[in-house]
Amino acid sequence: MPELPEVETVKRELSKSLIGRTFSLPVIYNLNCVQTDIDEYKNKVNKSKISSLSREGKFLIIHLENRGKLIFHLRMEGKLFYEEKSKLSNKHLSLYIPLDNDYNLAFYDTRKFGVTYFLKEEERGPLSNLGLEPSQIKNEEYLINKIYKSNKCIKQLLLDQSIIAGLGNIYADEVLFASNISPFKKGREITDIEAKSIIKEAKRIIEEAIENNGSTIRTYQASKKIHGSFQSFLKVYGKEKETCSRCNLVKIERKKIDGRSTYYCPHCQNVGISVAITGNIASGKTTVSCLFKEKGYELFNADEEVKRLYSDKEELKEIKKSFKNIFNGDNLDKELLISQMVKNPNFKQKYETYIFNIIRDRINEFFINNNGKKKVLEIPLLFNARMENLCAVNIGVESENNIEFLKERKDKYIKEKLFLDKQNKYNEKKHRLDYIIKNNSSLEDLKKQVEKVIKEIEKEL
Ligand SMILES: [Zn+2]
Repeated sequence: MPELPEVETVKRELSKSLIGRTFSLPVIYNLNCVQTDIDEYKNKVNKSKISSLSREGKFLIIHLENRGKLIFHLRMEGKLFYEEKSKLSNKHLSLYIPLDNDYNLAFYDTRKFGVTYFLKEEERGPLSNLGLEPSQIKNEEYLINKIYKSNKCIKQLLLDQSIIAGLGNIYADEVLFASNISPFKKGREITDIEAKSIIKEAKRIIEEAIENNGSTIRTYQASKKIHGSFQSFLKVYGKEKETCSRCNLVKIERKKIDGRSTYYCPHCQNVGISVAITGNIASGKTTVSCLFKEKGYELFNADEEVKRLYSDKEELKEIKKSFKNIFNGDNLDKELLISQMVKNPNFKQKYETYIFNIIRDRINEFFINNNGKKKVLEIPLLFNARMENLCAVNIGVESENNIEFLKERKDKYIKEKLFLDKQNKYNEKKHRLDYIIKNNSSLEDLKKQVEKVIKEIEKEL
């Protein structure tokens, strides 16, 4: 996605070719991309001379002599090209404006989120809500004043264009990594020293990015010829599972904050170490998780979350919309659910995907709410749910006596649960685990193993 440095690069490149040229009548393919009156847009742009280009935040502005200004916001995938008329392609073309030579200004946009405006020079339109850009911020007070009451995560606040203009998802992650600040930290918890660091790093990173023509993450290109090289300067964004280049101790993690992928080093940014516990049915996972809890770890239990889901009327209504056949009136019928899970692989897959997505969201919330604390997450279907990258450390718990354990629990659905447990990918993928704890002897023995593992995990941190 084009961010401030990329838009600045586009501005600099286009300035070389556009200034002094005259536009002809715009040809608009995607009417929705024009946010102001279309006839006015066409008429005012037609026969207008381009006097200069500027940029505010992620908005590119083309100033027309004595006419007003054209504004482009490229959003997700928009691209503005100075392109030979003979090379014009209909594919993904939102609009183009012919110039008084052999070239067009062409606006391509695969996702169709990009927009454009025609405004009078004195009108602000979408620019009126923009905060200062990093380079315009004099001191940390500016940032503190805007966030000191906020309960939102600092990552979210940095993306808010009315607070700081021009920081997008990539650079917000880079700025927080460079400042050693957890993306989950609340605005009101940010200290003066941290705010100072955020502004300093934002200035430095944006400046470096501009020098390197922006990054070319995904399909973005500054212009057709110039490829950004900033990508190779990124330290944390897109580096999930890679060992942190600063501490060399832990892997970069990724979580969602307000729907946006967020990358961070749990160690350098003081997010707190996280441990996932998994294993086959009745292997002693819960006992192990509780032993972690006794050692100061905050506990998240996926099965308990599912149970909580089943006691929440609003959630049940949602589930019923997609899975009517397991309901008896407004109640979820456990017997129907288990029999569908056993008999109907299609149902099982759809249902599990639905539940895994909810659990994933809850895990994101759990990380936000327990910023800076040690965390243990009990996730029996860790591999099936593809959650093996959510925590810094993955631990398996195994037992030779799990059938006896299950019988001791007097579980009504032993046969069905053992059948479903065969589909747990634990055995197939357990070689990927960081530790395996064997639960074949006494509780004392189990405690010893857990203590040893905790020591190992925390040794270098
Ligand atoms: Zn690190």
